[in-house]
Amino acid sequence: MTGSAPQPVRKVVIVGGGTAGWMAAAALSRLTAAGVAITLVESDEIGTIGVGEATIPSLHDFNRMLGIDEDEFVRATRATFKLGIEFVDWGRRGDRYLHPFGTYGRDVQGLKFHQLWLRQARLAGAMGDVGRLDEYCLSAVAAHAGRFTRPSADPAAVLASLGYAFHFDAGLYARFLRNMSEEAGVTRIEGKVVAVDRDAVTGHIAAVALADGRRIEGELFVDCSGFRALLLGEALGVRFTSWQHWLPCDSALAVPSASGGALLPYTRATAGRAGWRWRIPLQHRTGNGHVYASAFCSDAAAEDDLLQGLDGAALAEVRKLRFVAGVRERLWEGNCVALGLAGGFLEPLESTSIHLIQSGIARLLSLFPDASFAGPERDEYNRLLGLEYQQVRDFIILHYHATTRNDSAFWDHCRTMQIPASLASKIDLWRSKARVIRDQGGLFTEDSWIAVLAGQEAPPASYDPLVDTLSIEESARFMRHMRDLIGKTAAAMPRHEDFIARHCRADLANAA
Ligand code: FAD
Repeated sequence: MTGSAPQPVRKVVIVGGGTAGWMAAAALSRLTAAGVAITLVESDEIGTIGVGEATIPSLHDFNRMLGIDEDEFVRATRATFKLGIEFVDWGRRGDRYLHPFGTYGRDVQGLKFHQLWLRQARLAGAMGDVGRLDEYCLSAVAAHAGRFTRPSADPAAVLASLGYAFHFDAGLYARFLRNMSEEAGVTRIEGKVVAVDRDAVTGHIAAVALADGRRIEGELFVDCSGFRALLLGEALGVRFTSWQHWLPCDSALAVPSASGGALLPYTRATAGRAGWRWRIPLQHRTGNGHVYASAFCSDAAAEDDLLQGLDGAALAEVRKLRFVAGVRERLWEGNCVALGLAGGFLEPLESTSIHLIQSGIARLLSLFPDASFAGPERDEYNRLLGLEYQQVRDFIILHYHATTRNDSAFWDHCRTMQIPASLASKIDLWRSKARVIRDQGGLFTEDSWIAVLAGQEAPPASYDPLVDTLSIEESARFMRHMRDLIGKTAAAMPRHEDFIARHCRADLANAA
């Protein structure tokens, strides 16, 4: 064998201390044991975006990788449990449906459960009432009943089908991860980056310069600087691809309010005249926001809608944010990888931003470069992350497009716009025989697609013809059994607030 051994990366610099920066620091801190120095630079003066309270179940994988105890995490971030998202007024005004985490019924001989349900629903008159599809999903039934417990580890138990994520205070999560990272040897530097020095030969970033004159050198730079994308965008000039023509919302207002009523174990997303409002229950308050398209709605009207929809007193001033949905053309360029808002943003409708951060981190670890920053790792990273952003984008567009709403110019635009071909073919498959094929490596499961398609589309023309190989009577018996079992299992769960009180209530009296 000839050739010299690759030089390992010895210095990693993370710019930004929001959720993305501290998630990256916590995950990369394991490299300190191999002699890699990790430095994080953040600016108190600039601060963080301060929103991002809802997550999806993949966060379990990230927390598990870091060895985080779940009850401790829930207490520290004043979290609640999230069994799904309730969509109100999306397909048409007056409709509501749940996108639950977890699965519908049980697949039979390779056939998705909803196919059986569709056939039996068509026969409903003869076969008795089959009920809503939701009634065959434990997460949905528990969510509607305001109940929660952790899933069973026994795959044969119906309780194993329960999926869940969290609502949390993102600022507290960043603080929690900061403590872990600093304990693991990450160096935090408070300071404002004012310039980025590049190597004259390679064009790679050599150092960032701070306002107080300090210069932080590194080999690998992780850009977590938020929407400005200081390194990947401003310094390296990687362009931003806008998807605003498909996702026209470009503004958000956010305000916390006093908790009102029962602690719901799900997020609520209520569609309005030019966007939608979120309601996210935490242990100590409710997070609220209004995401809207400024081309179709004034800020003042959006604020009125938000404040009128609160179910508790506002606890702070309304914060205003502007954004453009889209992603950088490449998320890894030279010796710089962008995570979080510095890389892209797809609006919070399905709470995917934190997931995309963790996915970027996981892929960075699995494709970790040496100091030559050769092309194959970077290209594969860009391919995988680019695809993931596109898949998430399609799923979010579906919510806006699959509607019969015609009560505003915004909905007329969304309903009639040209959609990506990748999404159009999914909708066609559904409309024909209710088939859903999961993309390879796609984040959203078939059950997630089924939830939104069934929740917003008109009933499909037909169902999978292979369902007719199953006996109608046996299918009816099986479905009755599933519905009964799920109903009883949900009824036996503790109320969401009781579960939290018993296992993981935050110490609010002594909170900082
Ligand atoms: P930021 O929080 O903006 O952090 C940027 C960091 O860079 C800060 O520490 C800042 O001080 C630092 N910085 C910037 N410039 C400099 C400089 N010159 N020198 C030094 N430091 C600098 N995601 C979800 O998963 N779920 C949600 O429910 C959700 N809701 C959202 C709602 C809205 C309206 C928006 C806009 C986003 C939402 N997100 C959500 C996205 C989520 O907020 C972000 O993905 C997440 O907070 C990560 O942000 P970040 O760390 O990339 O950026």
